[in-house]
Amino acid sequence: MTPRTGPVAPTDGALRPLDVDGVRLNAGGLLGAWQRRNATATLPHCVAQLEEAGALDNVRRVLGLTDREHTPMWFADSDIYKTLEAAAWELAHPDADPRLREFVESTAELLAKVQDDDGYLNTYFTTEKPELRWRELDWSHELYCAGHLIQAAVAAARVGVGERLPGVARRFADLIVARYGPGGVPAVCGHAQIETALVELYRLTGHRPYLDTARRFIDLRGQGLGGHGRFGPAYWQDHVPVREASTATGHVVRQWYLLAGAVDVAVETGDPELISAAERLWEDAHGTKTYITGGQGARHRDEAFGNAYELPPERAYAETCGAIASFQWNWRMLLATGTGRYADAMETALYNAIAAAIATDGRHFFYANPLQRRADHDSANDHAPDRRQPWYSCACCPPNLARLMASLQSYLATTDADGLQVHLYGSGMVSARVGDTAVGLAVVTGYPWQGQVRMTVTTQPAQAPREWTLALRIPAWCTSFTLTVDGAPVTAPVRAGYARISRAWPTTSTVVLDLDMPPRLVTAHPYVDAVRGCVALARGPLVYCVEQADLPAGIPLADVRVDTSAAVRPSTVGDLPDGVVALTATGLARPPSTPPLYGESREVSPGRPVALTAIPYFLWGNRVEGPMRVWIPTDATP
Ligand SMILES: [Zn+2]
Repeated sequence: MTPRTGPVAPTDGALRPLDVDGVRLNAGGLLGAWQRRNATATLPHCVAQLEEAGALDNVRRVLGLTDREHTPMWFADSDIYKTLEAAAWELAHPDADPRLREFVESTAELLAKVQDDDGYLNTYFTTEKPELRWRELDWSHELYCAGHLIQAAVAAARVGVGERLPGVARRFADLIVARYGPGGVPAVCGHAQIETALVELYRLTGHRPYLDTARRFIDLRGQGLGGHGRFGPAYWQDHVPVREASTATGHVVRQWYLLAGAVDVAVETGDPELISAAERLWEDAHGTKTYITGGQGARHRDEAFGNAYELPPERAYAETCGAIASFQWNWRMLLATGTGRYADAMETALYNAIAAAIATDGRHFFYANPLQRRADHDSANDHAPDRRQPWYSCACCPPNLARLMASLQSYLATTDADGLQVHLYGSGMVSARVGDTAVGLAVVTGYPWQGQVRMTVTTQPAQAPREWTLALRIPAWCTSFTLTVDGAPVTAPVRAGYARISRAWPTTSTVVLDLDMPPRLVTAHPYVDAVRGCVALARGPLVYCVEQADLPAGIPLADVRVDTSAAVRPSTVGDLPDGVVALTATGLARPPSTPPLYGESREVSPGRPVALTAIPYFLWGNRVEGPMRVWIPTDATP
């Protein structure tokens, strides 16, 4: 029987993920509420949009069942596959909507019918451009789409739904191995994804050629096989071999999907050189090219990283898929190394860049995630609209959100030979095995609104109780915390980002972790010219922003600075969802003036004090539309 593992099931590495049933999120907590909203709103919306936007008709068109034209986006098959994957992960939950099973099964049936005898499956190249099949791997996304099909099939197999899907994916994967595997045509796909998918298929099946082919795709990078393209070879990370790369470069999603594949290959083949390359790129990206929200990608033109410290807030591209790809890659790095900085990066991206991409209704989405909107904002870019949209012509982001949220519980905790690790804090129930001991962890917390995490630890040793370690992540933003076990204070050493409590645990204990969560005024590295003289408000893992809607009438957001000498306090705002903690600071409103655009000196006026309310960045744009900013000038600036 296939183990019910979640996304990413390495056979080696520092930490082992739990299976999909290992954590149940409670819908009363924020993470559980997000997962519930995904089940009831986002996922059904994605399924409906596959019909409305035409992605499913692309498939029926192959069978002559519709004369509707193929969607303009030639890789729309991947929208179907990501939604299938999301549905599969959702079906792992006991309260899943049974109609999803019908969607998975009927779609798998349809895909099986349109698959060529040789295993090939791509609606665009089958109906529109058969003469170009396998001829334009730089832009064709054929291997990219295949990768998403494989990931959907792996998810379906792991949770035991969509019986036909794994067979369809394997036939296509076998064709890819025969054509591009060892001894085959040397080639790379312009959009990485096939690499990580093939490793996951290897993990599911044990069929070594899938792993060897993934490794070959990784090793063939940097030889110019992808061609120059519109944006140069760095755009698709073909400018330098993966092992030699030192900077995060090019299209953000392509970069992280490629490195996800590289880490997967490294873990399965025991290849420390690839892990070192991934660590180098992590340091470059997270040290110099990541927004405070965890989003990445400063450039709209090619959806790419900018130079180091090139992080303009209003021109942030920070594609939703880029943040999801970063989250997924950081998870692989965490599993491989056991180091907390990867979980920190996941948390920042999740609570800010990723969460902001979904409206509170679960049915509208941002593609780009800027950190500032001006009053007269007018985006010429379809992918950076003023407000969240129900769908996009390039609909990569919404189903990507759906598959992440459906499997969110899989990212909370892991085990190793020594114990249980908790990486993300959310109310729910963790069930795991540490050696021969069954361990339960009932977690109750108001995180991220409060820093207290209360855990009831239950153990059922098969033999005599033995010592094991409960490791709790202490986020990098937290400078002070307390820990008690059954009411008694405990001093736990923090190693690699985790407070570790080792003991022979009794049948039941109560562990309380209190993370101090004072509001913070964050400044950026002085090289980030775009926000020099500004601060961002943050509390716990959340970045905050100020919206025009919370300012007194007649005071434009552009004229407000933060009084950095005044206190910042947690507060509530009436029109935000229940439980949301806002921050109240003191603003200083500049007198209205129309100074010249340029001048030799500019006065720092004291300004009029106004109450300044900041709301979690992820909630921006959900009430009235208007200006918003994360980075706010201080009282020291003109
Ligand atoms: Zn996207």
